[in-house]
Amino acid sequence: MARQAGINLENVKIRNKSTVLKLLNRKGAMSRKDIAKEVGLTPATVTVLCTEMIEEGILQEKGEMQEERRAGRRKILVDIAYGCKCVVAVSIESKKTYISACDLKGNLISGKIIKTDTSIAPIEFLKIIEKECKVLLWENEIEQRSVLGMGICIPGIVDRNRGISIRAYGIWKEEVRIKEIMQEAMSCPVIVENNIKAFAEGELLYGAGRTGDNLLFVKWGPGVGSAIVTQNQIYEGKDHRAAEIGHYIIEPNGELCHCGRRGCLETKVSTEAIIKRIRSIYSKEHTPRLYENTGGDIELISESNFTEWAESGNELDMSDEEVVKILHKSIERLARTIVNMMTILAPDSTILFGFMLENEEIRKIFMEYCQQYDSTYTEEYIQKSELSRKIYYIGATAIVTRQYFFEPKDS
Ligand SMILES: [Zn+2]
Repeated sequence: MARQAGINLENVKIRNKSTVLKLLNRKGAMSRKDIAKEVGLTPATVTVLCTEMIEEGILQEKGEMQEERRAGRRKILVDIAYGCKCVVAVSIESKKTYISACDLKGNLISGKIIKTDTSIAPIEFLKIIEKECKVLLWENEIEQRSVLGMGICIPGIVDRNRGISIRAYGIWKEEVRIKEIMQEAMSCPVIVENNIKAFAEGELLYGAGRTGDNLLFVKWGPGVGSAIVTQNQIYEGKDHRAAEIGHYIIEPNGELCHCGRRGCLETKVSTEAIIKRIRSIYSKEHTPRLYENTGGDIELISESNFTEWAESGNELDMSDEEVVKILHKSIERLARTIVNMMTILAPDSTILFGFMLENEEIRKIFMEYCQQYDSTYTEEYIQKSELSRKIYYIGATAIVTRQYFFEPKDS
C-alpha cells in the first residue's frame, strides 16, 4: 500500500513539473509566485518543484524583474534551461536529408545536408545517417548523455508507435523499421513521424498554432502534404492515412502517382510534375525567354534549379506565357483542393509552409485563387507559418521534446 501511494505521489509530481515546464515554454521566464498563480498550486509546492528542477539542471534562475508597484523589491525569474539537453533532428525528404542538432527550444545548434540516396538499400542509407549524426555530435562536442533523443521525419505513411515508415512515397518502396535500427545505432530514444504531422506538433509546441484548437496544415514543396489538428491533437486516421491531400484525386484516369493510384493532386502540382510539364513545352517558339536564359539546354530545367528559384524569392519572369500558365494551373488546383478541404473541416485557421508557399509571389497568386472561391478566406485565416525557416528540424525536435521533456509519461 505504502509503495503504491509513493508511486502515485511521484506521478503527481511528474505531472506538476510537466505543467510548469509547458507554462514556461508558452509564456517565457516567470517568478515562482506567478507560476503558482497560473497553475493553481501553492507557492510552497512550486518552490519545491522549482528547486528540484534547478538541481536537475532543467530550470535556471534568470535575471530579476522590477516589480512595478513596490519599487525596490525585486523578484527572481525562473526559466527552462533550454540548452541542458540536445535533440538530434533528422528530416528525410525525397531529394535531401537534413541532419541537425537542436536545443530544447528548437533552436539550431548545428546542421548539415546530405543527398537522400534512394539507389541503396534503406538500411544502408540509415547507416550513412547514423555516421553523419555521430560526426555532427562529435564536431559540436555534444556528449551522449546530453542527447535527449532523436527525431526522424519522413514523408508518407508512418506508424509512429512502432517507428516504422510504411510507405515513404518517392523514397522507399518497402516498410522500414527506422526506430528499431536507429535506436540501437544511436543508443538513445528514437521517434519516427510523418514530416507534416511532426511540423504541426512543432507549431503546437513552439509556434502560432498554440492559439488555435483546430488547425489545417498544408505543405507545398517538393510534394504536397497536410495534417489536421483537432482539439490541439493531431488527427490520426485509419492506418495513419489521414489528410493525404497530395493523393486527393482530381482527374479521372490521370497520370500514375507514386502511391499507385491515378490522377492525384501530386501528379499535377509537385515540383517534379511542374518541371515535367515545363520541359514538355520547352522550345524556342513556346518558351522563348526560358530558352534564351538557359541557352537552349533543357537539362537546366531541373527540380533543383526550380527549387533554388522558388527559395530565392526572385520575381516570376512573366514573359513566357506558357510557363506562367502551367504555374497558375498548378496553384489554382492546389488552392481549390485546400478551399474544399477547409469547407469540410472549418478550421480555426490554415497554416501554410514549404518552399513553394513561402515564395511571396506564389503565395500571392495562391491567395487570389482562394479568395476567388471564398472572399472570406483572408490572409489571417490562411496564414504562413512563423516556423517556416525551421522546417527541417522543428518537427523532429518537437516530437522528441514533447514526449521526453515536456510531457514525460508517468512512471
Ligand atoms: Zn497519389
